[in-house]
Amino acid sequence: MLTVCTECGKEHRDSGIYECPACGCIVLPRYESLQGPLADPGASGIWKYSRLLPPVAAEHRIYLGEGSTPLIPSVRLGKRLGIGALYFKYEGGNPTGSYKDRIAAMCLSWALARGRKACIGTSSGNAGAATAAYAARAGIPYHLFVLEHMAEAKLAQVLVHRAAVRKIRGFGTEPEIGDEVFSRVFKAAAKHGWEVTVTAYRYNPYAMEGVKTMSFEIFEQLGGEAPTRVFAPAGGGGLYCGLWKGFAELHAFGLSSAVPDMIAVQPDAAPTSYALTRPVRPIRRPVRQPPSYPACRCRIRLTAGSRCGSWPAAKAALLPYRMRIFGKRSGSLPRRKAFFASRPGLQRWPD
Ligand SMILES: [Zn+2]
Repeated sequence: MLTVCTECGKEHRDSGIYECPACGCIVLPRYESLQGPLADPGASGIWKYSRLLPPVAAEHRIYLGEGSTPLIPSVRLGKRLGIGALYFKYEGGNPTGSYKDRIAAMCLSWALARGRKACIGTSSGNAGAATAAYAARAGIPYHLFVLEHMAEAKLAQVLVHRAAVRKIRGFGTEPEIGDEVFSRVFKAAAKHGWEVTVTAYRYNPYAMEGVKTMSFEIFEQLGGEAPTRVFAPAGGGGLYCGLWKGFAELHAFGLSSAVPDMIAVQPDAAPTSYALTRPVRPIRRPVRQPPSYPACRCRIRLTAGSRCGSWPAAKAALLPYRMRIFGKRSGSLPRRKAFFASRPGLQRWPD
């Protein structure tokens, strides 16, 4: 595994770096070859795809039942929109209820492999719940900064796993306070040698590799084919970037014939990434820049012979939506915000 800078394109042999030593920008893991088949049938969860994940020895791999989530065919919405085959990847089936479990599994396993004695990060909800569960399993302390008004249910999930939680007033709404919190996180991580568990490419590109296992599963669930188009909810862009990276690697290693059109869908009320691609009304950003956005924007060689796509490359590939579009009908799927985020994008897509 190498790491490649998303900005200057430099390749680095040191797979332990978290940013480019040359320019300070985001680095992404890159795999020079795929030794053997995509999936290891003897492994579970994200570890089925360990050949395309950062190297972690078997004794350090944590598995709590994450991954292998269903790809559910649409019964009504696809028909109504005239789409021949529409599927929903249901990530609510993960141990703590979100795709962040894939990241946490990768993150804490990577932390153990590197001999970390603790981890530290920030969260507004799902990431904290996931990391707390996996840190407890790993047997290392988890120091977490959260929004003052974090949802009680999510906070309970964190506390039950005995994370050390600090609520910060203004965090999540005031950019200056956000900067200060992140600065404290990185200082503490550097001082004590702790793993940073913030779920964004800017902060931990190795942990984020867990996301792309969704793409690998989708590819296998579709009988060894990539979908034509993927709609993904976007906040900072981490999920979108991870999905794209997975499909790009499948294509680069000759397993799929094409990379899907990737469409990121973002709330009109908080178009943090969308606003960077075109002029929109001024928005209040809780963070100065969506922390995975530069990775999404990148145009670097990820794997031998391939060039990645990027969201500005496709017209309107980042699509805002208004919350009022949410309909009352949800079919038979549980109503989770992340699920709904992609549906309005699908409904508004021009063709
Ligand atoms: Zn660089």
